[in-house]
Amino acid sequence: MISDEDVSAGTGAGSRRDVRAEPPQTPVELKVGPIKQSAGGPPAVVSALQYAWQEMGLSRGAIALMRLNQKDGIDCPSCAWPDPDDQRSPAEFCENGARALADEATERRITPRFFAQHSVAELSQQSDHWLNKQGRLTEPLVLPRGADYYQPISWEDAFKLIAIELRRLNTPDEAIFYTSGRTSNEAAFLYQLFVRQFGSNNLPDCSNMCHESTSVALAESIGIGKGTVTLDDFNRADTILLIGQNPGTNHPRMLTALQSAKRNGCTIIAVNPLPETGLMRFKHPQEVSGLLGSGTELTDLFLQIRINGDMALLKGIMKALLELEESRGEVLDREFIDTKTNGFAGFAAALNTVSWDAIVAQSGIARTQIAAAAQIIARAERMITCWAMGLTQHTNAVATIQEIVHLHLLRGQIGRPGAGLCPVRGHSNVQGDRTVGIVERPKAEFLDRLGAEFGFAPPRRKGYNTVDAIKAMHTGAARVFLPWAGISCRPRPIRPTPPPPCSAAA
Ligand code: SF4
Repeated sequence: MISDEDVSAGTGAGSRRDVRAEPPQTPVELKVGPIKQSAGGPPAVVSALQYAWQEMGLSRGAIALMRLNQKDGIDCPSCAWPDPDDQRSPAEFCENGARALADEATERRITPRFFAQHSVAELSQQSDHWLNKQGRLTEPLVLPRGADYYQPISWEDAFKLIAIELRRLNTPDEAIFYTSGRTSNEAAFLYQLFVRQFGSNNLPDCSNMCHESTSVALAESIGIGKGTVTLDDFNRADTILLIGQNPGTNHPRMLTALQSAKRNGCTIIAVNPLPETGLMRFKHPQEVSGLLGSGTELTDLFLQIRINGDMALLKGIMKALLELEESRGEVLDREFIDTKTNGFAGFAAALNTVSWDAIVAQSGIARTQIAAAAQIIARAERMITCWAMGLTQHTNAVATIQEIVHLHLLRGQIGRPGAGLCPVRGHSNVQGDRTVGIVERPKAEFLDRLGAEFGFAPPRRKGYNTVDAIKAMHTGAARVFLPWAGISCRPRPIRPTPPPPCSAAA
């Protein structure tokens, strides 16, 4: 049984050892081969099943995969691509999904014996991939002060240790409570309630690093920080613009939606620094043509953008649309602009001051290609634009995403079937988490209702987002880091920051 004395005497709490967090040099044998001509197909099936059976075993793996993304089944713990509302295919998952599930449901286990054999110094030299492959933790572990080996600790003592460390803090804001989109809505709601009752809004989240810029940009432009389309809209769209996203790797089942859109006559424009295979051609592994044939060509117009040249390109496309409007009219949706937007005159005037030379130079795209894209967009009746980290992780991301909104407002391509904005998120429940309160700057209404419902006064100070949290841990302003990532236990147990000697344990 662990005691306060044990903790203060340095047996309970880990020590801030001088361990340089250098990523381990993992010598990988780089294999360079020809660029694949299509995504999906038999290789994806083989890779998915191989990994699943390797980790989960044949029968267990097969049962788990048959339940993945089914209505009464298991939600994929990987990306945030939605499931069809109606008919689901028997294998409603992609290679990434199968791997993510297999990783969660792996039969590999690591017991305290593993940690008795491997010191922290030794483990810190291993790659994340190697550590992940060791399997799931069987019980809680603690790193006593000055020790170099993790030791088993009972759940009761582990919770006690967390409570002692939190109570020792001078203020609740010396603790950071991280979480990610791998956490269910229910667990995330309870987590934020616990943190706010503890007295902090320090709730950084993985979305701080992925679509935060989207939430800010859309909230300012259209009043809501979320996408405006559903999966069904992909079947109605006649034009899809993919920008800063590689669906073949990030959201593989999206390829099915793009394929069916193509079959409905949709035109796809892809904007990316690399001609990624998943943007070019897709072989649906559940179709004969996908297994034996050449699959479906996806992108009609590929624009090989300079990194972070997206804003210049979007301005170029809109400038071309304004010029088309001037030359032949009926390109812009004037009624929509007049009745649903404001600021058009200033926007158009500012766009006219941007030179084509600057646009071509900054985007890296020839004017003829920009004109081609504008022609396609000018013909579009129902257009969807999708984007991901290739756009959101730039310092000017908010302004760039608002250019996408401008493009849609110019043609009234929002808020109707087959048209709208589609930020594609990376984690399955990142949107859910934010909605149930995992946010470092919560709205006053949310806190008012939370306090009224649970009978306490929630903290009102803005908390740390992920970047602030990392800085606070570096400066020592934060002394406890409690990650609750809904991630299955991997060999990185909580390492409480040793507190400076304090007068009295709370
Ligand atoms: S597309 Fe995303 S959510 Fe769907 S199965 Fe693949 S990884 Fe999972």
